[in-house]
Amino acid sequence: MSNVNFKKCVQEADIVLLTIGQNSFPINIKKAIEKGIKNYNITIVKYSDLTNDDLSQSNLLGNSYEENGKYYIEYNDKLFSEGRRRFTICHELGHILLGHNLKLKDDKVQEREADIFAAELLMPEAIIQEVVKRGYSIQNQNRLENVFKASKQAYDIRLEEFGRYPDWYIKSMDTSSIMLQFNGFLNEAFPNKRKHDYYDVDEQEAEERAKDAWRR
Ligand SMILES: [Zn+2]
Repeated sequence: MSNVNFKKCVQEADIVLLTIGQNSFPINIKKAIEKGIKNYNITIVKYSDLTNDDLSQSNLLGNSYEENGKYYIEYNDKLFSEGRRRFTICHELGHILLGHNLKLKDDKVQEREADIFAAELLMPEAIIQEVVKRGYSIQNQNRLENVFKASKQAYDIRLEEFGRYPDWYIKSMDTSSIMLQFNGFLNEAFPNKRKHDYYDVDEQEAEERAKDAWRR
């Protein structure tokens, strides 16, 4: 049995990030797939177009398959959580781009790989590392889920991997292009709280205000 290829999952997701022509989060994954990812011809199908069943109570999440060289991602569009729906589409995209055997359902290695791919696409490790460097806590789950529109599952995977990334990531992954692409987003959503070593932002602002008051 093969093992989870962590590096391949992260690299494939990063390639998608670098080539979809978006520079902020949340990633618009449907738009990216419609525009075309690499040379894949992928169509997204809503379950509600396939059945009249009440899908909101269903535990169906999604599925992907290939037919005549075309790929299809079906997903449960009636799930209440937007993060969950987005995670499902990214997970299925992962199965396709990672070259998984789409006929094999519930294979532990394939499922884990698709999850890692989806988490990286929705909440890239390099971006989260930078957010932490800028003085934000990743324990604030709601904030991260809101900004990235990622599911609890994506968040949990991120939290689980955070801090114990294998050395290869730091040594062999060039994250500078991703950082460059999303720099504007980072500055807007996560302005650096640690710009000044001896002040936190509030103190700095208070001092500026005091100076302004004196000038008036
Ligand atoms: Zn799967």
